[in-house]
Amino acid sequence: MILIEKCPVCLSNKIKFSFKNKDRITNVKGEFNLWNCSKCNAYFINPTLSKIELFDFYPNIYYSFSKYDKTNIVRKFELWYLKNIMTRKDTINYHFTKIINPILTSTKVIKKRYIPFIKEGKLLDIGCGSGDFIDKMKYMGMIVEGVDPFAKKDSLNNVKIHCVELEKAHLKNKDFDVITLNHVLEHTQNPHVIFSKVKRILKDKGIFVIGVPNSNSIFSKIFKEYWIHWDTPRHVIMHNINTLNYLAKIHGFKIISTRFVSDTKVINNAILNILKEKKRLSFLKNIIMSDVIAMLLWPFYKSINLIFRSGDHLEIIMTKNIKGES
Ligand SMILES: [Zn+2]
Repeated sequence: MILIEKCPVCLSNKIKFSFKNKDRITNVKGEFNLWNCSKCNAYFINPTLSKIELFDFYPNIYYSFSKYDKTNIVRKFELWYLKNIMTRKDTINYHFTKIINPILTSTKVIKKRYIPFIKEGKLLDIGCGSGDFIDKMKYMGMIVEGVDPFAKKDSLNNVKIHCVELEKAHLKNKDFDVITLNHVLEHTQNPHVIFSKVKRILKDKGIFVIGVPNSNSIFSKIFKEYWIHWDTPRHVIMHNINTLNYLAKIHGFKIISTRFVSDTKVINNAILNILKEKKRLSFLKNIIMSDVIAMLLWPFYKSINLIFRSGDHLEIIMTKNIKGES
């Protein structure tokens, strides 16, 4: 373990201890200190864990690398829908997808208006798991590649995946139209390495899409250490709008869109974490985590997030800031 003296995002030395937390998801033993930077408001684990130490906190239950079952009838419909409806740009399709998208779980991830779809464009997904998401984008007509050091060759879908860390992947300069980084940045100890590499391999007019848990969310403040998205110690740096603005500016990206997304089970999960600690859990677990309760609470989550212009997840789209553009 190494004690760090500067913020890993903005390099400010105005950092201080904030609170202690533990692994509340997979329950591996240990307690960790979260520090906070008063300049960019990043939260980070300090002292840091080495890659080998962190590896113990990624048990098999944490990630799913299952293959996408294309023989299942619902999946078959989803794939037909992705290929024939999601790629159309007319008005009927616009209204139709608004109704259908929330029903089909696989399309929730794609949300056409968010992940840019470019016919025959090249997409790279960093931290792609078994490649489930890029396989669907391939089905829609994009040329796809993924990077994931935890991916295992025998569990991959039929897509090209580099089973190494992004830094070690052999990728050509200015090769990709779209690069996605969905809930990966918070797992990396040096976000600058990711941004530099993305800058190099993204085409000049390419799009970089980032999704992270928002450590400035109202529920992170209400529930403090019980907020599920701290995910200590796997989330080594927790980001917010300031950290991403800083990284974009330093690495020459221009933010073109920012949105906050409500997490429908954030209250349920926090209550579950509190009860786990009090060891009064077993008979309540299923009730607390039921979809019905989450649906009943959804208008509440949504209004709180709208009022505070916050949300438990933050999604940002950026492009390269080409010379001459402001
Ligand atoms: Zn900072």
